[in-house]
Amino acid sequence: MKFIIHHKDDKSSARTGEINTDHGVIPTPAFMPIGTRASVKAISPDELYTLETNIILGNTYHLYLKPGHELIGRAGGLHQFMNWKRALLTDSGGFQVFSLAKLNKISDDGVEFQSHIDGSRHMFTPESSMEIQQHLGADIIMAFDQCPPGQADYVTVEAAVDRTTNWIRRCKEYVSKANGIHDWEQTLFPIIQGNIYPDLRERSIDELLPFSDCGIAIGGLAVGEEKSDMFETIEQMDELLPKDQPRYLMGVGRPTDLVRSVKRGMDMFDCVLPTRNARNGQLFTSNGIVNITNHKHREEFFPVDENCRCDLCQNYTRAYLRHLMNVNEILGHRLASLHNLAYYMDLMKTIRREINAGSFDKWSHHYLKTMLEFKGM
Ligand SMILES: [Zn+2]
Repeated sequence: MKFIIHHKDDKSSARTGEINTDHGVIPTPAFMPIGTRASVKAISPDELYTLETNIILGNTYHLYLKPGHELIGRAGGLHQFMNWKRALLTDSGGFQVFSLAKLNKISDDGVEFQSHIDGSRHMFTPESSMEIQQHLGADIIMAFDQCPPGQADYVTVEAAVDRTTNWIRRCKEYVSKANGIHDWEQTLFPIIQGNIYPDLRERSIDELLPFSDCGIAIGGLAVGEEKSDMFETIEQMDELLPKDQPRYLMGVGRPTDLVRSVKRGMDMFDCVLPTRNARNGQLFTSNGIVNITNHKHREEFFPVDENCRCDLCQNYTRAYLRHLMNVNEILGHRLASLHNLAYYMDLMKTIRREINAGSFDKWSHHYLKTMLEFKGM
């Protein structure tokens, strides 16, 4: 994998670039839609290509439980299994074990957990996370880490930082000994932990940097901490991390968060918001949030967003989408998801264009001033 920087903004840490993988080029800054269970909910790969999506994320925890990583391996990997021809990233399973599974028990060896589906008992270790991700075959795989909640105290976070360092050693050792089962390159990203404690963040960077070949992730943010603390930590990461590797800010976030994080030198993002909120009828638009199920939209015979190129906005009215959502028609979920993904993809495209044109500072100032007025943007 190779990362090339194209253009650096004069007034901030924003930059454009590209990540070259065996499954195509990813222009950065990039947003990755979530395809938890080998599908970006309700959206086909062809539709994602039309939206100019170059990388999506799969969840190791879910795919391990159903249909099983070995089955996906036999299918030729996750790309082949779901007919996705562009780049893929899988997470390590760690975050989901802590947030979804029942009765998890953490030790230095790994995490024992009970499936949220049928209560069956399982164990994830750094080695098993690597083995599962090798079967899935994503272009970018994530280190097995411990991500404490946003309000965790110093001692808890310190222990998580130490454990994450021990685990990256084991991840790296495993992938260096056990060749992947697919014949394309898989790049391992370490995950910096440390929540909002600057000295722990610094220590985590020092300990993990030797394990990063081309790309590093920042975990433990957007997990319930204050937003001002989150941005302070991102600024610290921008100062301390090497400039020549892509930085993946995990789990962030809202459209304005993306713009503010790009300003602070972040290159890759993922978040469930565009797809999850779409299914709840919440749409991101150039005029703020539209909650389409609200009564006031019932006779609005015009598009959700007249500045949007998506199928929903080009061909259907607000009143129609509101009706579909109210009677729980699948088409409503599909159209709303397509729209929100189009909003995110177009936002990233605009960000890249403005950075390349040298006008990102002016554009982002205006965007944030306008959009921060709207709750939820
Ligand atoms: Zn639209």
